[in-house]
Amino acid sequence: MEDKTLVCQDCGQEFIFTVGEQEFYKEKGFDNEPKRCKACRDKRKAQRRQPKEAAPAE
Ligand SMILES: [Zn+2]
Repeated sequence: MEDKTLVCQDCGQEFIFTVGEQEFYKEKGFDNEPKRCKACRDKRKAQRRQPKEAAPAE
């Protein structure tokens, strides 16, 4: 295995999908490759953690 260069779906920047990450994905049984660079993934994660605007349904 070797590092792969992928293009981020969000920002269009190239990022490295390292061997370590590929092994992690394989271990988890993920078939697909990451679509976003780490910065964009972190950004999305941070957004999801923001205080809820709408009240929870239940
Ligand atoms: Zn990105």
